[in-house]
Amino acid sequence: MRKLKLGIIAVVLGVLAFQGFNLSTARETKSQTAAPANVSDAQLVNAESQPGDWLTYGRTYSEQRFSPLQAINDKNAARLGLAWYFDLDTDRGQEATPIVVDGVMYFSTAWSKVFALNAATGARLWSYDPKVPRQWGANACCDVVNRGVAIWRGKIYVGTLDGRLIALDAATGRPVWERLTVDPRWRYTITGAPRIVKGKVIIGNGGAEFGVRGYVSAYDAQTGKLVWRFYTVPGDPSKPFEQSILAKAAKTWTGEWWKIGGGGTVWDAIVYDPELDLLYIGVGNGGPWNEKYRSPKGGANLFTCSVVALKPDTGKYVWHYQENAADEWDFDSAEQMILADIPVEGRRRKVLLHAPKNGFFYVIDRENGKLISAKPYTFINWATGMDLKTGRPIESATARYSRVDSPPIVPGPLGAHSWQPMSYSPLTGLTYIPVNEVGFNLKSPKDFEFKNLALNFGIDMVAAGMPQDPAIKKAILDSVKGKLVAWNLVRQKQAWAVERPGPWNGGTLATAGDLVFEGTAAGRFEALRADNGERIWSIDAQTGVMAGPVTYTVDGEQYVAVLAGWGGVFPLVAGEVSFKSGRVRNISRMLAFKLDGRAGLPPLAPYEEPVLNPPASTASAAEIHHGEAVYQRFCSGCHGDVAVSGGLLPDLRYSSLLTDPLWFGIVRDGAYQALGMVGFGKEVSQQDAADIRAYVIFRANQSVSGAKPGAAGATGDSKKITPEH
Ligand code: CA
Repeated sequence: MRKLKLGIIAVVLGVLAFQGFNLSTARETKSQTAAPANVSDAQLVNAESQPGDWLTYGRTYSEQRFSPLQAINDKNAARLGLAWYFDLDTDRGQEATPIVVDGVMYFSTAWSKVFALNAATGARLWSYDPKVPRQWGANACCDVVNRGVAIWRGKIYVGTLDGRLIALDAATGRPVWERLTVDPRWRYTITGAPRIVKGKVIIGNGGAEFGVRGYVSAYDAQTGKLVWRFYTVPGDPSKPFEQSILAKAAKTWTGEWWKIGGGGTVWDAIVYDPELDLLYIGVGNGGPWNEKYRSPKGGANLFTCSVVALKPDTGKYVWHYQENAADEWDFDSAEQMILADIPVEGRRRKVLLHAPKNGFFYVIDRENGKLISAKPYTFINWATGMDLKTGRPIESATARYSRVDSPPIVPGPLGAHSWQPMSYSPLTGLTYIPVNEVGFNLKSPKDFEFKNLALNFGIDMVAAGMPQDPAIKKAILDSVKGKLVAWNLVRQKQAWAVERPGPWNGGTLATAGDLVFEGTAAGRFEALRADNGERIWSIDAQTGVMAGPVTYTVDGEQYVAVLAGWGGVFPLVAGEVSFKSGRVRNISRMLAFKLDGRAGLPPLAPYEEPVLNPPASTASAAEIHHGEAVYQRFCSGCHGDVAVSGGLLPDLRYSSLLTDPLWFGIVRDGAYQALGMVGFGKEVSQQDAADIRAYVIFRANQSVSGAKPGAAGATGDSKKITPEH
């Protein structure tokens, strides 16, 4: 009998071997089906004791994105090579940081899809598509991106662009529960990664540019039941406030802000400190940007542009620190935060490190929200310094464009640093920040009316457009920069910096191997020495890289992985400025590297500039002017500033429909809605649509001839100057 059993086993093994299985695969499959991603609260708190895994968005609750792994280090990183790659089925911006546990990698992509791969081979285990309606993309300010998933007790959590929070079975990718976290009558989106805190999933949302009211919610991770919700801005004061603290916050607002939401969205940073049992959220800008149209008689507008500490069990307010009172520059404070314990004047302090859009590097006491220090980590011109007594920036006399005629403000809405994660190495004491230096021409419009489906910034969108005078344009393009800055946060001083061809480079990863990893907008992925910035290794990624890299081990071997793929708000909106790093393409892939990796990417054909052959421009200057105003307000957010697409979505100057009546069906009636182009018929009249077309034809002709500003002065004569250093 025993002999017979052994014989059967031998036959089974033989069959498995014949089918291409091997024992290690079988063993791996078995352990995965037993309990994949079965990560407990205690494991999340003690993530430091699992250095081979990457358990949460920023690796550990501190979100330092520092790995103690050092098998790959400054001595051998030159031997790095591609271990494997995995091609994705989307070609929009890729911003996600993957989670890696027990040899499996989980990550999200554009359109909120989720993938599980074998982290050693790149083989697909499962994938999940929440089927976000493509027209919801019109509600996203900053591309249809997603920055990551969370894991807990055998489940994978993802927020979707259309506002759902979904729990998936980690073994199969099948949905376990799904909750709609937003009111779909408003233009909410989710792009940020959920965080797991004490058995709850914490999730925020975006949409401050489109008239929403910000909040963060906690759901029971097991059942999906809503546990609490914290609103970041007060609602209609004639109704009861959801939280008592909002009565105080309402005193910092004027006018009727609640009618168009007020903004203050929690679209990225959510960080938990298990020692203090505090949850920190980063709150975005008020909406509209222009203070005059948001809170006309002044006020700090709490809790916009603030770091807020909450109790994670109840969502109860503990403290806040507002980085920009009465912001009017889109200076979100939503950017990622790092928790660290560092020496301050001889004493060890629990601090929160923040490098938000406004250009200041903040060291904040995270026990009480008191500012310890703040210095600009790059060039800024909206403030001259920080008053440490009040914790308020000293604003430049010309900063507030709603009151005075401002020069272009640096940084602009792109932010000196945005969502691209920075990292902090406790070994070097340096924070590695992907920095943008891009100014923006902010002017108050003659009048402003909130409009659905429009960019509701409350600024003059024509004045914000790129001037076509060649000399002015060149000066502006020359002023646009990008760099990786290593910042000494104790001295509040730059330790070193590496210049990049342009802005919008990737997030960073620091390791104990004295390395910093970063992808670039120009399509490289690099390892630099963490202490001095010396470039040790660089590889052609074939595409712009924005996401934050991770490192992990499988069977004792160290890997470094990064989600590659170009997109996000910069190439979507910025037009010609977004070519600063070259004609960057989106080839969406997960790339994994190891020492002596031998895999190669398929060859890539060189970029070929398409031929521009527009119909003749015959419209009047008045029609073109009007078309420009409507285009900038309704179209530029996806098709690019002054009708120059950064390559993500169609460049209308090349459209074959410029003389086709179908133009009106697409623009007004939603003929291409299934592709994501919604109909603007309620907002854009037939005459508006005709004038948009006239403007696009004019711009196409202007691009061909390289002509100086033509009949339509609005496309060339705005009196813009470049930022002065
Ligand atoms: Ca914003």
